[in-house]
Amino acid sequence: MKDKKIIIIGGGASGLIAADFLSQKYEVHIFEKGKTVGRKFLVAGNGGFNLTNQATDAELLAHYSPTPILHAALQQFGTEDTRKYFAGLGIPTFIGSSGRVFPERGFKPIEVLQALKNRLLENGVSFHFKHEFIGFDADMKPLIRNEEETLTPFADKYLFALGGASWSVTGSDGTWLDFFSQKDIKTVPFQASNCGLNVNWSENFKERHAGKPLKNIAVTCGNKTVKGEGLITEYGLEGNAIYPIIPEVRAALNRGKEALLYFDFKTQNTESQLFNKIEGRLLIPKNYAFSFKLSKSQIALIKEYSTKDEYLDCEKFIGKIKRTTVKVESLRPIEEAISTVGGIDISEVNDDFSLRQFPHLFVLGEMLDWDAPTGGFLLQGCFSSAVYSANSLL
Ligand SMILES: Cc1cc2nc3c(=O)[nH]c(=O)nc-3n(C[C@H](O)[C@H](O)[C@H](O)COP(=O)(O)OP(=O)(O)OC[C@H]3O[C@@H](n4cnc5c(N)ncnc54)[C@H](O)[C@@H]3O)c2cc1C
Repeated sequence: MKDKKIIIIGGGASGLIAADFLSQKYEVHIFEKGKTVGRKFLVAGNGGFNLTNQATDAELLAHYSPTPILHAALQQFGTEDTRKYFAGLGIPTFIGSSGRVFPERGFKPIEVLQALKNRLLENGVSFHFKHEFIGFDADMKPLIRNEEETLTPFADKYLFALGGASWSVTGSDGTWLDFFSQKDIKTVPFQASNCGLNVNWSENFKERHAGKPLKNIAVTCGNKTVKGEGLITEYGLEGNAIYPIIPEVRAALNRGKEALLYFDFKTQNTESQLFNKIEGRLLIPKNYAFSFKLSKSQIALIKEYSTKDEYLDCEKFIGKIKRTTVKVESLRPIEEAISTVGGIDISEVNDDFSLRQFPHLFVLGEMLDWDAPTGGFLLQGCFSSAVYSANSLL
């Protein structure tokens, strides 16, 4: 008989894994406003489902900002622990390209979620669907509204795992932010992260190159350079070389400054090596693609951001291969973003993710104001914060 009770509000990745650990010792109830749990987890599974990443130790911690948010949690429950955890649920994983960790081929996202749900059911966790958190009473107990009434369900501790504010169709709409700020808990407005960028392409460029990849490039913004692949879209840019520099782009835009991206299309070569490649001959544009092994889209992008003189002059063109500057107009809308920053300010939480002012309340996962790139680091951050706070209660 479990004599203490925990209520988890929000049935996403963070809430579900916290429920598993806590149910070893506590009576656990999940209150979820939707008709089902794990909807964003399933959306994540629709693309490449990165459950975590192979990075460990300092390499892992370096992906999270602001430093040292989540560090203790990531050290206690790291990427290898996530892989072991899912293996324990019957979901083996493998390390794919660029260190991303996926469920073994053949395991669909819905099966991964079902394995997690089955575990919780075996452990006696109770699910309360269509139960929405709508604020706090005078004693800082959560108010929960279902289809008939408003409740103040008793528990010894309450864990919030309400998610961020993108893909609202999954239930993560961020409307809970005011309930915390009304109680003088510092919150930060949501902003998009891991999102696309709006760029003013010319009509001609857009028409011919939207949908084309920019392979093996490096993109620099501020002090950060990221190697990978970009994708040209109707509105601008996406891709794994773009998402990690969003914090720098966002910071520049928030300061009212120009957000400039510097593209390097030949990361393996210096300018003089490129010049040597053509053995001192000065080429005409017709030969650029072949001689420098550039794609049509790369050449078109360089042309889009060059003067006529720069484009026609082979030496100057080589300079542009190594540094083409593209101005970002804005971030794509928050609703489309893979993740958001903002939520509960990290200065409000103790090490175990309980609120400093109200230590019977805990906040986990994406609803806290931290940032990480795609590649499995988002779910890992959610799992680590959830397990760390669960362990502190165990
Ligand atoms: C398209 C896409 C692809 C992604 N791919 C990956 C990936 O491959 N790898 C990776 O690591 N991450 C990925 N992510 C990010 C990852 O899915 C999220 O960071 C993670 O799911 C957040 O988990 P969470 O538990 O904190 O919040 P969520 O999963 O968002 O769960 C929050 C839950 O709280 C509920 N809720 C909200 N408000 C209330 C309320 N007032 N009352 C009651 N319940 C409420 C919601 O209905 C929801 O069920 C992806 C995200 C998207 C959108």
